[in-house]
Amino acid sequence: APAAQWVESWPDDVGADRVRQAFAAAYPADGTEGGDEADGAPEVRVYAAPGRVNIIGEHTDYNAGLCLPIALPHRTYVALRPRTDSVVRLASAQEPGAAWTGRLEDVAPGAVTGWAAYVAGVAWALGQHLEATGGSAETIRGFDAVVDSCVPYGAGLSSSAALECSVAVGIDDVAGLGLAATDAGRATLAAAAIRAENEVAGAPTGGMDQSASLRCAAGHALLLDCRPGLDPVDAVEQIPFDLAAEGLALLVIDTRAEHALVDGQYAQRRATCEAAAATLGLANLRELADSVIAAGAAEGDAAAREAAAAEALAAALDRLPDDVSRRRVRHVVTEIARTQDLVSLLRAGRASDVGPLMDASHASLRDDYEVSATELDVAVEAARDAGALGARMTGGGFGGSAIALVPAERASAVADAVAGAFARAGLGAPGFLLAVPSAPAGAC
Ligand code: ADP
Ligand code: MG
Repeated sequence: APAAQWVESWPDDVGADRVRQAFAAAYPADGTEGGDEADGAPEVRVYAAPGRVNIIGEHTDYNAGLCLPIALPHRTYVALRPRTDSVVRLASAQEPGAAWTGRLEDVAPGAVTGWAAYVAGVAWALGQHLEATGGSAETIRGFDAVVDSCVPYGAGLSSSAALECSVAVGIDDVAGLGLAATDAGRATLAAAAIRAENEVAGAPTGGMDQSASLRCAAGHALLLDCRPGLDPVDAVEQIPFDLAAEGLALLVIDTRAEHALVDGQYAQRRATCEAAAATLGLANLRELADSVIAAGAAEGDAAAREAAAAEALAAALDRLPDDVSRRRVRHVVTEIARTQDLVSLLRAGRASDVGPLMDASHASLRDDYEVSATELDVAVEAARDAGALGARMTGGGFGGSAIALVPAERASAVADAVAGAFARAGLGAPGFLLAVPSAPAGAC
């Protein structure tokens, strides 16, 4: 059987060294035109931001629901040197041959294509933020930057937010905005990164990824409440999630599956949920979830609570016109409830009891929301068979990654078992990461 392929994270000094060396190679000392050369070239500074993995609460962010990401130890590094003009020069080790040069005044939605949109988009969005709050977009000056990363690309672990957020804390620092110093400021940086992704890169994703990369804390999961209009500071709560102390490990399985034609699926799910909420006369499906959970909470014991909640949900589903929307709504409502239940277990110091909630989440995403894939189903089943306490797909689905909660000493055996199951099923080799809840974006 094939051995599991592990994707190691880089210690911060290793990542910082790599990106500094790449910077020196990309922009040799005599190439600092536009730089502040009067008293020598300005210094190169290094920043990093993590990818993330969501523990539970999938396809809930755009339904004003709850999700529970952690920051990965895998980070994207950016070496950045400020300029006095408005020129931005970009290179990435992950995009050889696709260096980019432009001017900040030319950056706008629709004006930048390719990976540079994620970076230039953050500068643009922060400029927009300054304009909207009585400042000037010209506070943001140009910069030369080089990127390198150990976050798996396009694996549902949010390399895109890691890129945006590393740049966001970098621009924040060199422009002296001071936003990264407070949680409220980090929420502002996250909002800028979300605008960069939605409006400049053109990816209509929810806000979980950027909030996770900027606002998670080591040893904690981030409970993110996605209700619109909530003060961003009140929308997050740090939930202690010290896996190692409980003898547990969280294994991430990057299926490396590539599926065509998935773009329209995300928009379709979103549209179905919005239409269902409108049919029910609600602003969003969170309102239904809250009323279903409240119906259960009125009852005494666990069985009565479950029965009352199920009855309230069934009554709402009866008002929907078709089976597909009934199943989509059932996923969203039960997933929000599972997220609350999982957080309650963590608060009670019972991390080793959350497995069944993860299993139920996977079944709901596979059967009701229909966003799983063969590779994800093989991964979670093989992981459970090999001793995982629970396993589920994570992220948007149709490929990407799965997670398995395992007794720490079983992590490598479970990974080998999953690698073997992929080989027997004729699937390409997956990658494996250990998801220790890690630090948010910052300077290195
Ligand atoms: P995910 O966020 O799940 O990894 P996405 O499709 O959202 O997948 O983001 C991947 C895209 O983000 C890449 O195609 C690229 O455009 C950009 N990107 C992410 N990391 C980097 C990087 N280190 N260098 C250049 N571009 C990157
Ligand atoms: Mg992404």
